[in-house]
Amino acid sequence: MTSNRYQRQIGLVNQVGLESLCLHLTGDLDMIISTLAQINQMGACQLSSGGSVSIDVDPKSSLIGLMHSWQLPTKKPTKWSDVVETLGPTHGLSRSAPSKHNHIHFRTRENWDQNPSSNLQLTVWNGRAVISDFELIFDSPVQRKSTLIDAPIEVAACAVALQQILLQKGLIRSKTVSDRWLSLSACVENVSPEDAVDLFSSELGPITATNLPDNSGSLLRIRVPLDQTSPELLRLLDHSCLDSETLIPEGWLSLSPIPVSVVDGVVFDDSPHLPSYLESAAVVVLGAGGLGSWAAPLFAQGVKLENLQLTLIDGDDSVDEHNLNRQVLYTEDDIGLPKATQAASRMHNLFGSNPKILGIQSRLESNHVHEMEITDELKTISLESLFEYNINQDSNDEKIKSALDGMELGLACLDNMNSRTLFNRACIIRESRFVNAGSQAFEGIVEIFDSNVCMVCRYGEDAARSREIISCQEVGTRPVASIVTTTAWTGAMQSALALLILAEDRELINGDWHHSLVFNKGNVQPKSVVRLPFVNGECIGHV
Ligand SMILES: [Zn+2]
Repeated sequence: MTSNRYQRQIGLVNQVGLESLCLHLTGDLDMIISTLAQINQMGACQLSSGGSVSIDVDPKSSLIGLMHSWQLPTKKPTKWSDVVETLGPTHGLSRSAPSKHNHIHFRTRENWDQNPSSNLQLTVWNGRAVISDFELIFDSPVQRKSTLIDAPIEVAACAVALQQILLQKGLIRSKTVSDRWLSLSACVENVSPEDAVDLFSSELGPITATNLPDNSGSLLRIRVPLDQTSPELLRLLDHSCLDSETLIPEGWLSLSPIPVSVVDGVVFDDSPHLPSYLESAAVVVLGAGGLGSWAAPLFAQGVKLENLQLTLIDGDDSVDEHNLNRQVLYTEDDIGLPKATQAASRMHNLFGSNPKILGIQSRLESNHVHEMEITDELKTISLESLFEYNINQDSNDEKIKSALDGMELGLACLDNMNSRTLFNRACIIRESRFVNAGSQAFEGIVEIFDSNVCMVCRYGEDAARSREIISCQEVGTRPVASIVTTTAWTGAMQSALALLILAEDRELINGDWHHSLVFNKGNVQPKSVVRLPFVNGECIGHV
């Protein structure tokens, strides 16, 4: 594996420092697996750079029944020895921790009474999660039950734990570099830019040309592809990091949508009881990249599999190597293949076959949301290509319309605002729930829109219609800096909020919980989803 895998994150973190981290993980086995998976995705704790991970787990013990083993970059692991075999060569996975290791302890209902002293504790119970630097005490005994959001809350908590390590160790860059590349430039005398582009060709990709400042000729530029660029050259752009910080200056922080109150180290827990799972759900996940590849499987884990209808729609025709640092549903075997169909087939493989989990490789177009309109583009294409277009696209069009018509809730996991707004309209027309999410660098947001808020009245006309694509693909778009801690938190919390709002619609829960959360370098805070002050009228007239 080349370091292109980390291309989207090396402008965010000190990758060398990340690789040399040493961690010691104890407690809940599922949360250890999820943390290991995220460590592996971002290339942290590498033996070759002096880093490692220690876990006190018997390699002979089984993984059957655990929630998070699907996140590992291997087919179907069944024993801890499979985990050691997959991750050991890179991260060590020894059973004893040298003293320099940072110790993170995960406490859940599975190991409630086991509390070794550690640098950091993650406590997860009944859909609540707290990160603290001390052992939480409860004002009364906690009745610990499984909940429909256990899987996403645990993933989000693991992401915050790792984020706290990045902050504490001063590994976060002071400025975000969203992309970097090597250019080959040439001055060509006495040739105009238009002629220069015709005269020269490059095996490396398209050539651009501009006038030289004194109009004496052209300046040609070729972007050298990442796989032909030395990582040492890309690292020349490294710069300073932020000073060491902490997410928990007061010693603790609540991470879950359900508020938790801690006074003098004691938790007062009177928040609502949550169901173990939903009997059924029908959802459309639009976008199978950084967010969708977390949100779709984590949502699925909160619903009875045989009654789940989940349609993944994504237009990307191939998984790229630099998607693998955070897009958890894909492995190296998927490089070059379409995202939506690979994601659906991985979900069948992981959770069991269900023909109602469907992947469609297509973009969402206005004719899916409204009635089909004949566009100018369609009028001018040849009869032959129209025939071919119709066969392939008609079948996808019908599947997309049918999924939209049957959905109770839409999860927007997209890379541009205009498609989010179109999807929002599809949800408003059908009176379906809409859960929006977005992430970039170390910032994430998740928000449930009620019937009185749409993308236009929330973000303004110009922002909501923006077609700029903030993409994980390399060419022709504005690339976005991304790291797994942010995408895992955002996708996980998006699925948690989606499960909670459907549970509330079924009157399975009552009581206060946050309908929107924001993530900033690991700091998790609630936020209200409100209209801009000058917007009036019904949302159906806005989008
Ligand atoms: Zn509106």
